[in-house]
Amino acid sequence: MLIKTLLNKVERFKSFVYGSVCVMLVGGTEALVIDIEPRRNSRPICPECSKPGTIYDRQPVRLFEYLPIWTFKAFFRYAPRRVKCPEHGVKVEALPWAYGKERTTIAYQVYLARWAKRLSWQETARVLETSWDTVFRAVKFVVDYGLAHRSLEGVTEIGVDEVAVFKGHKYLTLVYQVNAGARRLLWSGPERKAKTLLQFFKEFGPENSAKLKFVCSDMWAGYLKVIAKKAPQALNVLDRFHIMRKFNEAIDEIRRSEVKQLKADDQQNVLERKRWLLLKRPENLSEKQTASMGDLLKLNLASIKGYLLREDFQRFWDYRRFNFAEKFLENWVTRTLQTDLEPMKKVARMLRKHKPLILNWFKAKGQMSSGAVEGMNLKVKLTMRKAYGFRTLKCLQIALYHELGKLPEPEYLHRFC
Ligand SMILES: [Zn+2]
Repeated sequence: MLIKTLLNKVERFKSFVYGSVCVMLVGGTEALVIDIEPRRNSRPICPECSKPGTIYDRQPVRLFEYLPIWTFKAFFRYAPRRVKCPEHGVKVEALPWAYGKERTTIAYQVYLARWAKRLSWQETARVLETSWDTVFRAVKFVVDYGLAHRSLEGVTEIGVDEVAVFKGHKYLTLVYQVNAGARRLLWSGPERKAKTLLQFFKEFGPENSAKLKFVCSDMWAGYLKVIAKKAPQALNVLDRFHIMRKFNEAIDEIRRSEVKQLKADDQQNVLERKRWLLLKRPENLSEKQTASMGDLLKLNLASIKGYLLREDFQRFWDYRRFNFAEKFLENWVTRTLQTDLEPMKKVARMLRKHKPLILNWFKAKGQMSSGAVEGMNLKVKLTMRKAYGFRTLKCLQIALYHELGKLPEPEYLHRFC
C-alpha cells in the first residue's frame, strides 16, 4: 500500500492506476513488480495520432523496468491494449511511461542518462546492474528528446571546430554556440569538408543563420567559403586558438626534422623528449622545465628559433588598436619570411593571406571571448577520453550532445537525481 502512495507522489498517470505490488523472480533475481491497470472507462490512445480509439483486444502482460528501490529492481507490469483507430487501424496503445517496444520506462531512462553524464556508460551499466546497450538507448532517448525540444533562440555567436577521432582516422566537425553564458555544442557532423558545414547551415536554417553576428573558424578555405555564403552578415573571425595551433604544428615539424638531423650527424640529441616543452607557453612550464628550456635557449637550434617566433607573435593578441595590430602583423610576417624556417614561413604566408579575417578579431574584441572555442574543444576531448568503448561515430556524437549540448530533459522527471 505504502509503495503505491509513494509512486503516486512520484509519477501519476492520468488514465492508469497502480494495482497490487509483489516481490517475484525476474531473470533469476527477486524484484518488485507493480501492476498497472487502465482506469475504468478510459480509452486507449492510438500511437500514430494520439487520439483515443476503441479497445480491440489485450496483449499478454509485459514488464517495464522502473527505477530500482532499495536494492530491488522494480518493474511495472501491464497488459497493453490494442486500439482500433478509425484512421490507423489496429495498433498497440501508446503508454505514458514507455514508448514503442522499449522495455525500460522513460523515468528510468532519464535516471540512467543522468548517471551516464557523471560516469562512463560502462560504469553506469555496472553500478546500476544493467547492460551497456540499455544505457546507450537511455542516453539516445534523452538526446533525441533534447534536440527536438531545445531552443535556438539567442544564438548569435558560433565557433566551428574539428577533432580527430578514432586515432586520427576520422574527423568530426563541431559547431558550438559561444555566446557568453550560453556555451554549448550545437551540432556535429562526420568529416571536415565544406559539405559538412553546409549540412549544419541547412539544419540550422536560414532564419537562424541570418541572426549570426560572429562566426569563429579555422582558416581553411572550404569553411570560409561556406560561412561567407550562408551567413554573409556575420563577422568571420579566425580565432586565436586555431591560429596558434598552426604555430605549434610548424614548431613540431621543425623539431622532428631537427631531431632526425641530429641523429644523422651523430650529435647529442638535446631535443629528445622536448616536444611538450616547445609547445607549452613559457608561463605554463614547471620550474624544472624552465631550467631545461633555459639550457635549450643557449643552443642555436631551429626549433628554438621557431619557438621564439611564436612567443613573439603572442603579443599580437594584446593589441587594443586595430591599426597597431595590423602593423605588428606585417612586421612579424616580414621578419619571419627572412628566416630559413620553412614551416614558419608557411605560417607567415598564411597569416598574410588571411589578414583581414584575422584582424576581424580586433573588431570583435570586447564582444566575444577568445577562449570560448578552445574551452569547448578541451571539453570535447575530455568527453572523448571518458567515453572509451564508443565504437561508432554515431555513439560518440550522442555522447557529445549529451555532455555538452545543454539539452532540455522531460520536465516532470526533475526530482529523480
Ligand atoms: Zn490513429
